[in-house]
Amino acid sequence: MNHHKLKQDLIEFSKTIGIDKIGFTTSDPFLELKNRLVEQQKQNYASGFEEPDLDKRTDPKRLMPEAKSIIAIAIAYPSRLHDAPKSKKGERRGIFSRSSWGLDYHLVVKDRLKKLEVFIQEKVPGAVLKSMVDTGELADRAVAERAGIGWNGKNCSILDPVYGSYMYLGEIITNIPFPPDTPMEDLCGSCTKCLDACPTGALVAGGQINAKRCISFLTQTKDLIPAEFRGKVGNRLYGCDSCQTSCPYNKRVDFHLHEELEADPEVVKPELLSLLSLSNRAFKEQYGSLSGAWRGKMPIQRNAIIALAHFKDPENIDPLSELLKKDARPVIRGTAAWAIGKIGGDKAAQILRECLAAEKEELVRIEIEEAIAKLEKLGE
Ligand code: SF4
Ligand code: SF4
Repeated sequence: MNHHKLKQDLIEFSKTIGIDKIGFTTSDPFLELKNRLVEQQKQNYASGFEEPDLDKRTDPKRLMPEAKSIIAIAIAYPSRLHDAPKSKKGERRGIFSRSSWGLDYHLVVKDRLKKLEVFIQEKVPGAVLKSMVDTGELADRAVAERAGIGWNGKNCSILDPVYGSYMYLGEIITNIPFPPDTPMEDLCGSCTKCLDACPTGALVAGGQINAKRCISFLTQTKDLIPAEFRGKVGNRLYGCDSCQTSCPYNKRVDFHLHEELEADPEVVKPELLSLLSLSNRAFKEQYGSLSGAWRGKMPIQRNAIIALAHFKDPENIDPLSELLKKDARPVIRGTAAWAIGKIGGDKAAQILRECLAAEKEELVRIEIEEAIAKLEKLGE
């Protein structure tokens, strides 16, 4: 078997099935990544969403003992919404990050990986193949970096001069010894634009991210977002793109190459008030196909409340007080209390006092008391 020829055939085939970049690397362990992950754990920077076994994340042979190489792929995704509805008074809107536009990218990348697998199996019957994307054990970015898909930018994304960092990544571990590609040169240079743009200082020098401070991670949690970060969430409903949009390599990048990744602007930039009253069923119907729906309805609604506070329209005190009085979920009531306090004014203070008298849940009572205390301080 001529592995150079097979690699060339695979590259040609990949272009016909909607893969925008493909690269190859060995199955050697990712030692530098392992050191970085150990450091990340020591510093308590991890999000908790990752595979906990560091060996599995950094040694492909732990996942496939006969592994000889890894095929990395990238799919470019759009960065601009066309005909997006305007967010205006009386119709305030939130935004899903670009990685949640269109059909859940896990499904799109898996589809391409599956097609590659079928092609390889036809050429090499019995080939051992293991595909993964995002939630797999291996770190997609480390694989993509070593396979020459792009360099690992200071914004913790893989960057390519053509597609910028707007690429979804996936990989296949295989027992076929494909000749490896050369990693790309790091073109960040002395630029620090992404670090400067990060609203919470979550990007740590040396290409590390402190997930506990990262808004993208915080929007996906199910608890109350810590008060110190709430004001930084803005109108983000899911994810955060500030370290991508600030990157000079992303400036004019906007590829619309895949039908499935085209966003419905009404879905990814939805009206905030209508989000708050969605039933579970309606949420599933309207948002279930987005990658940003993976944690369910509650975190998106909590973030919508934070977004309403960001816009500070006094007329939104009424719908927020309805939530504070009636919603069964303490995280929603607590966030609504904070939001009412943030919008402020006499009516807000009165509603908060009324609700405090009726509220039994400690977590919510604390939020109401803090909101009242802040308003009283402002009124002094
Ligand atoms: Fe900072 Fe947002 Fe990037 Fe997270 S996603 S590191 S909060 S800019
Ligand atoms: Fe690199 Fe600058 Fe882009 Fe950050 S903004 S990833 S430092 S080029």
